[in-house]
Amino acid sequence: MLFAAQVLLDVTPRSLARPLDYAVPQSLADSVAIGAPVLVPLGSRPAVGYVVSVGEPQVTDGLRDIVDVLGDPLFDEARWNLASWIAREYACRPIDALRLFLPPGSSPKVAKREDGWRLKPPPTSPATERLVELLDPGYRPPAAAHRQRAIVAALVNGPLRVSELRAAIGPPDAALAALQKKGVVAIFEQRRWRSVSGGLAREDRRHTLTKAQAEAVEAIVKASPGSVVLLDGVTGSGKTEVYMQAVDAVLRQGRRAIVLVPEISLTPQTVGRFRARFGAQLAVLHSRLSDGERYDQWQLASSGEARVVIGARSALFAPVRDLGLVVIDEEHEPSYKQSSEPRYHARDVARELVRRQGAVLVLGSATPSLESLHASETGEVRRVVLPARATGAPMPAVTVVDMTQEFADGNRTMFSRPLAAALDDVIARRGKAVLFINRRGFASFVLCRECGFVPHCESCSVSLTYHEDRSSLVCHHCGHTEALPQRCPRCGSPYLRRFGTGTQRVEAEIVSRWPDVPVVRMDADTTARKGGHERVLAEFEQAPFGVLVGTQMIAKGLDYPDVELVGIVDADTGMHMPDFRATERTFQLLMQVSGRAGRAARPGRVVVQTYWPDHPAVRAVVSGDRSALVAGELAERRELGYPPFGRLARVLVASPSRSAALSAADEIASRLAASVPADWMLLGPTEPAIGRLKGLYRRHIVVKAPPGVPLGPTLWAALTDGAARTGVRLAIDVDPYEML
Ligand code: ADP
Ligand code: ZN
Ligand code: ZN
Repeated sequence: MLFAAQVLLDVTPRSLARPLDYAVPQSLADSVAIGAPVLVPLGSRPAVGYVVSVGEPQVTDGLRDIVDVLGDPLFDEARWNLASWIAREYACRPIDALRLFLPPGSSPKVAKREDGWRLKPPPTSPATERLVELLDPGYRPPAAAHRQRAIVAALVNGPLRVSELRAAIGPPDAALAALQKKGVVAIFEQRRWRSVSGGLAREDRRHTLTKAQAEAVEAIVKASPGSVVLLDGVTGSGKTEVYMQAVDAVLRQGRRAIVLVPEISLTPQTVGRFRARFGAQLAVLHSRLSDGERYDQWQLASSGEARVVIGARSALFAPVRDLGLVVIDEEHEPSYKQSSEPRYHARDVARELVRRQGAVLVLGSATPSLESLHASETGEVRRVVLPARATGAPMPAVTVVDMTQEFADGNRTMFSRPLAAALDDVIARRGKAVLFINRRGFASFVLCRECGFVPHCESCSVSLTYHEDRSSLVCHHCGHTEALPQRCPRCGSPYLRRFGTGTQRVEAEIVSRWPDVPVVRMDADTTARKGGHERVLAEFEQAPFGVLVGTQMIAKGLDYPDVELVGIVDADTGMHMPDFRATERTFQLLMQVSGRAGRAARPGRVVVQTYWPDHPAVRAVVSGDRSALVAGELAERRELGYPPFGRLARVLVASPSRSAALSAADEIASRLAASVPADWMLLGPTEPAIGRLKGLYRRHIVVKAPPGVPLGPTLWAALTDGAARTGVRLAIDVDPYEML
């Protein structure tokens, strides 16, 4: 009997997407195993691949030998099976799905050595980088010691490297030395931190659970293997404490847990709480780690030393054995869907993962997705409710302001009379307020008042946004920046007017009305640097009073007890998006932002400015009752066959040549028409809302299918058989969340 292995090559052509058979020479028989990286002949050259199965070959003719085994196995059969499931489900190459499961930085680079080919060694973290840890979180530096205050604020969520501290707040050296002398901070080497972080853990306030929280923990602990629990708890209801005590219970059973948060940099408080509770048992995985750091965290999980992994979407693929629990916090967040290949949704992959491993999946949110709410109605998912804030604080009172009435009454400013009065009041009492405007920059677009010309991006079919600080026009899709012209490029008129409002304009308006109030702005522009989020949040937290102006970045995980007022400057931004989820998303965003108000003793209030006070999302936020919105949206989706009552996929082609994009889209549409089942529907090809992006012309076809049917295999078979589409990019997106 010939011993053979199936090897998945680490190369990109779709024609080589499937594993190939190779013979295993006697000399390698002991080291060829599933997951092993190997060197194999491909044509006349060696190529790297991974063994995905071993056994008897299908055909023996012309079978070539594996040249060498390059290292220890990197995955097991179960993980390969899940990778294959992802590839089928999302119509992507198996190697792209498998890469999710490989240790970071292990994309194989081989080097020829005396003893044959070897994988280049994995990255390791710099061993001597010094770290600073806060020992006394209760310490308040003197008012004049600004640097010391900034350092303490920056460290409340966990240790930072000296270099990170420097990047965030400038050279901290003298202030740092002073704090070290007082015993407020400690400075040490990373290696030491890695092994002792549990010992240095901050004070951890472990709450006595409320009745509702205790019932939720019990429901999770008793859930049957493979099942899903939806934790539906209002903002501030103590979902994090429920997650942590459920994780505790799982660890006591000798099993392990994975916790996903939407984006680590936006949820430093959640991560800080897990770190304080689980210390050295916790591994943290996120995109802002260096390759070496990520590799270290991965090894901590893989070796079993870390028993809890917390991270963004991709932490789902960390090598955690004996998995007992997966938690997805803020499960409604669109960031759980990956927008590049493989275009998986972490919630759906997690459901498959827990089913295969006999673990339990917890989906937590104050505003669950309609998919999850519907699944709880059908009984597929068990819903557990936390109806009130854990601290006993009341939910904030919400006021809606009809901006058409303000305009009719002669108020042409961006602040309605009720919002201005509420700000006056909070500022007079030296309190804190948060203002939400979901657009960065100063004005959304510029328009010539004489000829109507609007400056557009030269490579995208979108108008440019005016940024006051740089006095320039910026494309929010590709980053293209140009100077604001003095005169209209078309007619020469000097009357260029700026329309619409962004964060910079709100900030400027606050400064001009209340010159003495500290204003902190949080958007993609102010947080671009590493540590930027932490720095901005710390600045607001440390300010004795003031106003935070921000985009949807401020909607998540911000738990500041002293915010009394939340003003939603323009509730309407997302309502008119050409997206069947526009109403759902608007509601989620408004609700999450509102939830930042009144988390402590002082009652909170929310003022919502809108031109559409009757919009179902606005009404649901004002009443605090989403049932009408959910029922209405679900009825509409049922009617139209949208998720969860049907499945969608989007096939997008893009090309620098307009005619190539057009003809490729036509060809693909006819191919699909010939191959999809009769009860599927094809819409298009049409031009998407953004017809040109980053210099590429775009066409798309939307596929609609009955609920529950797999789309991937049909799409893959129809679209990847090597039809010549030179110069055209093709993207298949199953269960798309973005169709612009
Ligand atoms: P959520 O994640 O549901 O928005 P959090 O977990 O952030 O809520 O909790 C909100 C606040 O309530 C936090 O400051 C937390 O420390 C506090 N908290 C949580 N559980 C309890 C409890 N059982 N008793 C008192 N306070 C609690
Ligand atoms: Zn003009
Ligand atoms: Zn652009």
